[in-house]
Amino acid sequence: MTKALAIAIDGPAASGKSTLAQSLAEHFEYLYFDTGALYRAVTLAALQRNVEINDEQSVTKLALEVSIDLVPPTQQDSRQYDVLIDEKDCTWEIRSAEVDAHVSQVSAYPGVRSALKDQQQRIGRRGGVVMAGRDIGTVVLPEADLKIYLDASVEERALRRHAELEARGQQADYAQVEQSMRIRDEIDANRAIAPLRPADDAIVLKSDGKQAKDVLAIAIKLVEAKIEELS
Ligand code: C5P
Repeated sequence: MTKALAIAIDGPAASGKSTLAQSLAEHFEYLYFDTGALYRAVTLAALQRNVEINDEQSVTKLALEVSIDLVPPTQQDSRQYDVLIDEKDCTWEIRSAEVDAHVSQVSAYPGVRSALKDQQQRIGRRGGVVMAGRDIGTVVLPEADLKIYLDASVEERALRRHAELEARGQQADYAQVEQSMRIRDEIDANRAIAPLRPADDAIVLKSDGKQAKDVLAIAIKLVEAKIEELS
């Protein structure tokens, strides 16, 4: 029987990870798991409940207490899944510019990361999953069968994120989006715990100038080769 792989897709914001991970999961009928949504949900919950983002202890306590769930989409508005925070639908709220501006600080807190790591490992270790994040190949699933690190220039990523925000009718200034992305990259790559970097055995793909379908075609070949190797 063919083994259902655990696939890790890491990379910086707006590198195309979510699109690739979702399409790959659909192609192989695997589960798609976007781990960034968990960090975003904790950040949104803190903002909504007036928990001071600089207060590491309170944010960590919240991460341990709040109930976050990712479930199949209940609405057809281009969402990939529903995000529930204490059972309330917050799918689009977690994508706001305000959450963008604070999520890297929240996800740099060790207590927040460990609260979310167990949950991710429980799902990832079952196999048949494509997990997208920053530290899947390095920390969450170092034993993943295939690790892809998807990268693109900050300018290209900021253009994509700006277009996404505008398409959802959210006010966005390109310069601000790019600045926020540079700051997020800096914090994600330099934090003490689980920094953003490719695992030693990751395959690095650059998505600059490539369409999503081209990146998907490359990734499908990589997965097929891995399935062949393991069977
Ligand atoms: O992937 P996305 O941009 O939605 O992730 C939001 C933020 O969550 C990232 O900037 C990063 O700070 C954090 N994150 C993380 N580890 C992951 C996934 C996301 O630290 N595995």
